[in-house]
Amino acid sequence: MASLSSRQSTPNSVQLGRIRVLKEGFRGSDQAVGPVVYWMFRDQRVRDNWALIHAVDQANKANVPVAVAFNLFDQFLGAKARQLGFMLRGLRQLQISIEETLQIPFFLFQGEAEENIANFLRECGASLLVTDFSPLRQIRRCKDELCKRVSDSVTIHEVDAHNVVPIWVASEKLEHAARTIRGKINKLLSEYLTDFPTLQPPLRKWGATNQTIDWDSLIADVLRKGAEVPEIKWCEPGEAAAMEVLMGSKDGFLTKRLKNYSTDRNNPLKPRALSCLSPYLHFGQISAQRCALEARKIRNVHPQAVDAFLEELIVRRELADNFCFYQLHYDSLKGAWEWARKTLTDHASDKRELIYSKEQLEKAQTHDPLWNASQLEMVHFGKMHGFMRMYWAKKILEWTKGPDEALAISIYLNDKYEIDGRDPNGYVGCMWSICGVHDQGWQERLIFGKIRYMNYAGCKRKFDVEGYVAYIKRLVGEIKKRKAVNDLGRNPKEICS
Ligand SMILES: Cc1cc2nc3c(=O)[nH]c(=O)nc-3n(C[C@H](O)[C@H](O)[C@H](O)COP(=O)(O)OP(=O)(O)OC[C@H]3O[C@@H](n4cnc5c(N)ncnc54)[C@H](O)[C@@H]3O)c2cc1C
Repeated sequence: MASLSSRQSTPNSVQLGRIRVLKEGFRGSDQAVGPVVYWMFRDQRVRDNWALIHAVDQANKANVPVAVAFNLFDQFLGAKARQLGFMLRGLRQLQISIEETLQIPFFLFQGEAEENIANFLRECGASLLVTDFSPLRQIRRCKDELCKRVSDSVTIHEVDAHNVVPIWVASEKLEHAARTIRGKINKLLSEYLTDFPTLQPPLRKWGATNQTIDWDSLIADVLRKGAEVPEIKWCEPGEAAAMEVLMGSKDGFLTKRLKNYSTDRNNPLKPRALSCLSPYLHFGQISAQRCALEARKIRNVHPQAVDAFLEELIVRRELADNFCFYQLHYDSLKGAWEWARKTLTDHASDKRELIYSKEQLEKAQTHDPLWNASQLEMVHFGKMHGFMRMYWAKKILEWTKGPDEALAISIYLNDKYEIDGRDPNGYVGCMWSICGVHDQGWQERLIFGKIRYMNYAGCKRKFDVEGYVAYIKRLVGEIKKRKAVNDLGRNPKEICS
C-alpha cells in the first residue's frame, strides 16, 4: 500500500503524502470515468477536511460529480445514546450545510459498511472512493474487505484528515515515546501545518436524488436502544458548536480560557482550564489542524500555554494514532513492551488487598471516595478530567485479579461512558496507565511491578481531593435532578429536539 509520492501537490489541493492508495483501479479505454464518493467515517465535518477537499478536487479534475456517504453501523464498539446521539445530531447539521453550501449530496446507510458502500459505488458507477483515516482495526478490516468487493475499475484513496502530520509520514514505525516522535513531527510542521484552501462547490452536480433521511426517528432509535447511557446536555454537538468551544467570544478556549492551561490543566477542580475539545476531535467535528493554526496565532501572548496545548493536541494525539496504527494489539497486554509484559506477569499473582468486580467498579462502589468521584464524573457527566483518568485506570490494575482483566474493564468503562471514548487516545491512555506504554520502568512494587504507581496521598499533595469529591457530588446531584424533572414532564417528541 503506497502513499503517493511526497512531491508537492498543486496549490489548493491536498499534499500527496496525506494520501495512500489502498487500491488502484484499472479502467478499459472504452469505460467512462464515473463519480467520486467520499465515505466519511472519522472526520465528520465540512470545514477543514482534507478528505473532502481531495474528493472534490479529484471530481473537478475528472469533470464528474461527487457525493458523501456515511455508514451507521448497527453496533460500533458498544457506543450508546450518549455518543450516537452526539454524532447523529452533528451529522444532521452536516447534511444541511454540505447540501446547501456546496451542493454535494449526503447519503446515509445503515448496517455493514463494506456491503453498503460497495453497493452504492456499483449503483452510481463510481470510479474513485475516497475515505478518511482511522487506525482502528474494525475500520481497517472494513476497508480491506471493500478493496476486495468493489469492481476492478474502482480506485480507493485514504486521506489522513485527522492528524496534522499524516501518520505514515510522521513515522514509518512504532514509536517508543513522545520523545522519539516529537522531533519527527516538529520537523514536518512547516510542510503540513498550513492553511486550508477554500472549498468551492464541485463543477459537475450530482443528479437528482430521492433519498430523504428521517433524522428524528434515527435519533429516537439510537436513544432508545442506548438509553442505559443517556445523552449529556453540556456539550452541544456539531461544527458550529465546536468552533464556539475553540474560539467563541463568551467562553472559547483560545479566546477566554487558554492562559491557565499550562498551570491548571492537571487540577481536576479546574476543568475549564482544559480545552474540552476531545468530543469534537473524536467525532471529527473540528480539525486538530484548525485548532493548532488558531493556537499558533496567539503564541506570542501565551507562549507556555500554547506550547503545552500543541504538545497534547499534536504530539500526544499523533503518538496515540501511531501506536494503534503500528501495533495491532493496541488494546491488549500483548501490545505492551517486553519489559512491561514481563513485570506485569511476574506480579500477576501478587496478593491483592482488595478486589472489586466489574459491576462494583461500574457502580462506583469502592472504599475510595476519590476514585468513586471520578467514576461518577464519567458515568453522569460523560467526561472524566484528564488527570483523574490516569489515577482511575491505575487503581483498576490494583483492585482487579490481574492486568488482562484490569485493561479489559478500563477499556469497557471508558468506551461505554466517555463522550470521547472508542478513540486511539483512550486505548493508549489505558495502555499507558496499566501497561506502561510510552512510559519507562519505575521502582518495583507489588502488583504494579515496574509500572508507574499513583496513589491517594500523591493526589492529595497535588490538588484539593475533598474539594473535587464535593464538586462531583454537587455536579451529579444537579444532573440527576435535571433528569428527574425532564423524565416527569417529557413528551416523546422532545427526545429528538
Ligand atoms: C485512562 C485514560 C483514558 C483516556 N481516554 C481517552 C478517550 O477515550 N478519548 C480521548 O480523546 N482521550 C482520552 N484520554 C486522553 C486525555 O485524558 C483526554 O484526551 C483529555 O482529557 C480530553 O480532554 P480535553 O480535550 O479537555 O483535553 P486538553 O488537555 O484540552 O487536550 C486537547 C487535546 O489534546 C489531546 N490530548 C490531551 N491529552 C492527551 C493524551 N494524554 N494522550 C493523547 N492525546 C491527548 C486530545 O485530543 C485533547 O482533546 C485518556 C487518558 C487516560 C489516561
